[in-house]
Amino acid sequence: MKYQRLRHEMVKRQLEARGITDPNVLAAMRTVPRHLFVSEALMDQAYGDFPLPIGEQQTISQPYIVAEMTQALQLGKDDRVLEIGTGSGYQAAVLAQIAYRVYTMERIYSLYIKARRIFDQLKYYNIVTRYSDGTTGWKDQSPFDAIIVTAGAPKIPKALVDQLAVGGRMVIPVGDQHCQDLIRLVRDKNGIHQTNLGGCRFVKLVGEDGWRDA
Ligand code: SAH
Repeated sequence: MKYQRLRHEMVKRQLEARGITDPNVLAAMRTVPRHLFVSEALMDQAYGDFPLPIGEQQTISQPYIVAEMTQALQLGKDDRVLEIGTGSGYQAAVLAQIAYRVYTMERIYSLYIKARRIFDQLKYYNIVTRYSDGTTGWKDQSPFDAIIVTAGAPKIPKALVDQLAVGGRMVIPVGDQHCQDLIRLVRDKNGIHQTNLGGCRFVKLVGEDGWRDA
């Protein structure tokens, strides 16, 4: 009950007050128990207006960033979504509340296992997990209606653009290690269109077509 109250407050003060309007995003973030995606010691802080550590020097994003990125994907209930950077699993759960199926990839084994466990506990049967470098995407399951990268890339990985369906949307932080621009990319029948949603700060996207060293 306490957490439900904190969650509703979070949606009102951090999301609605700052212009998040997609009703599916607001409903999803009123529903997903964010406190269960962090360690017990941090549960009481889970609904605060900031990122939190999740181990392995990685972080769960601030709620507003999760909402902004999810809203930018313009998800519908039949969409298949690829996420690179499972981390705690929170973003994937938010996506899974809205979309048909979520494919999520993580390169750190302990985080992958922990996220898998919480998805099972919370019965998110529409989330498919994979322990692998996501910079080359998930070709077998492509094309995707939406792709979300939750780690900062030096440039947009080509394989991910290739795996986006016509009509598909992608969001990805692109920049150096300290700050990035959140890029929204859309593929239509004429090609690729990019817009810049503004500055952000993510941990590094490490892999074959990302940063080479962690
Ligand atoms: N979406 C996450 C945020 C995780 S932080 C959440 O809701 O908690 C970014 C994550 O991306 C980290 O767990 C990191 O290990 C992972 N990551 C970085 N590079 C990756 C790559 N090439 N492939 C898959 N995961 C990657």
